[in-house]
Amino acid sequence: MGEANYDKVDIAIVGGGIAGLAAAAALAGSGCSVVVLEARELPQSTVLPGDSPEDYDARVSALTPRSIDFLEQLDVWPVIEATRCCAYQHMTVWDAEGTGRIEFDAQEVSAESLGTIVENRLVTAALAQKVQALGDVRVLAPARLSDLSLDEHGALLKLEDGGRIHAQLLIAADGALSPTRELLGMRTREWEYGHRAIVTTVAFENPHQHTAWQRFLQTGPLALLPLDSADDRLCSIVWSIEEHLADELLAMDDPDFAKALGEASEYTLGKVTACAPRKAFPLRQRHAVDYVLPGVALVGDAAHTIHPLAGQGINLGLADVQVLAEELNTAFARGLGPGRMDVLSRYQRRRKGDNLAMMAAMDGFKRLFEQDAPPLRWLRNTGMRTVAGLPMVKRRIIRQAMGVG
Ligand SMILES: Cc1cc2nc3c(=O)[nH]c(=O)nc-3n(C[C@H](O)[C@H](O)[C@H](O)COP(=O)(O)OP(=O)(O)OC[C@H]3O[C@@H](n4cnc5c(N)ncnc54)[C@H](O)[C@@H]3O)c2cc1C
Repeated sequence: MGEANYDKVDIAIVGGGIAGLAAAAALAGSGCSVVVLEARELPQSTVLPGDSPEDYDARVSALTPRSIDFLEQLDVWPVIEATRCCAYQHMTVWDAEGTGRIEFDAQEVSAESLGTIVENRLVTAALAQKVQALGDVRVLAPARLSDLSLDEHGALLKLEDGGRIHAQLLIAADGALSPTRELLGMRTREWEYGHRAIVTTVAFENPHQHTAWQRFLQTGPLALLPLDSADDRLCSIVWSIEEHLADELLAMDDPDFAKALGEASEYTLGKVTACAPRKAFPLRQRHAVDYVLPGVALVGDAAHTIHPLAGQGINLGLADVQVLAEELNTAFARGLGPGRMDVLSRYQRRRKGDNLAMMAAMDGFKRLFEQDAPPLRWLRNTGMRTVAGLPMVKRRIIRQAMGVG
């Protein structure tokens, strides 16, 4: 074997998105050499210009308090918090086809907020800045993994530019279509949601009141997520909608889209006064049958993708990274190497159940709300009103969504 020609490292992380960079930061200082490969240029600056809809990243995440705690531990949260993010104290969810409505408030669980909306490019830039300043982490970007094989000592990675790396552990954080997972033939269970998510940033007539708004339409859920801006009128929109309707929304000019969005949100925040260009993302549920092989661990979207209706995707991904780093750091403290299957299996055991439970819950919600049959409409409206009157049940739901359940 030509392993002699390979650059040897303890841990290679493929993918420099939020999950991959967080993994690098969490493993820094462990005594292991770490290399991160990212196919694209990493964002270098955390300073974002301007205060109009086009100045915001269309991709945002609602981070839970648990994820924020983890980013605090990695010492990247202070940069994000000082730059631009919006904590929300309330959440209002309502059914377009009836009277069901439920309000959640941070005070109900004695918390300061239910979550915080952050722009993905800012989180990535803050993590990249942190990781690039670490002595024991090397970042190669742009650098694309093109081929991969396993041997008894770990993984042999081939890069598009001809580079070769041998790693005792390969952490795949290369996203929903994970080339690593595909090259290794790791199976997934997947199904189409039949939805696409239209995302953009818009300005409304009225302030967002630091509330995350979600209206369940029969064609899919619409979320208005509050953004940090001078007049509190900017929101990030995640409109998950049936495929054929997504095409119509994308083809509209701005005034028609603004009207359609105003109607779909029942003018809860008034009219839409400005909007940034729209982007669309296909939505597919995907779950890897195994997260680990000897010398390999999948994290984040490489292991699972979930409908964005409850904004849990990267929160689950960060929890994967946190647990994997905990297990690895415990093993290192006992003098064990990084690619051991017993250590990786513990990571899988601790994460798979939680991820599956959240995916099943999101799938159930989606199905429940897209049905127009009167008994189901009655069930969800009655269900919402009943839950609204049961403080203990409500508190449990809130804690679960905050990642502290
Ligand atoms: C519309 C929408 C709204 C969402 N809202 C939320 C939300 O509110 N809250 C939430 O928690 N989640 C949300 N999510 C989910 C969240 O965006 C994802 O879970 C998260 O971005 C996944 O991060 P990741 O680091 O695992 O993967 P990615 O962000 O996909 O990163 C993977 C990285 O790997 C790199 N890569 C790929 N192939 C290679 C290769 N061959 N070599 C080297 N590098 C490679 C890519 O360039 C990329 O940078 C949402 C998703 C969508 C679609």
